[in-house]
Amino acid sequence: MQVYPTELKRLPDERLLLIGWSDGQRRTYGYRELRDHCPCATCREKRRQTDQAPAANLLPVLGPGEDQPLEITGMKPVGNYAYSIAFSDGHDTGIFTFELLRELGTLERPGSGTP
Ligand SMILES: [Zn+2]
Repeated sequence: MQVYPTELKRLPDERLLLIGWSDGQRRTYGYRELRDHCPCATCREKRRQTDQAPAANLLPVLGPGEDQPLEITGMKPVGNYAYSIAFSDGHDTGIFTFELLRELGTLERPGSGTP
């Protein structure tokens, strides 16, 4: 049986996205974590090239805008299996399937969070 989100919340203080799932799980996601796992073809290709780059090119670089705090500016359901997520850096082509979202993020322990 497919699980699906039942709750979607931004936690501005922690800069996290919280998703509650139909099986009772609650997971929190860093905006940057989601951006780094963007499953669109462009980002996949970028990550592939990074993996194959020679060691000399592995020094970290800071591109334009990357020093800005990243935000999620929008999140829309796609069919009944995924969300498309728009980021403040202008990138909005990633389709995050529920399956992928369940692999990412951090499982919130029961009892933590809201007091
Ligand atoms: Zn992407």
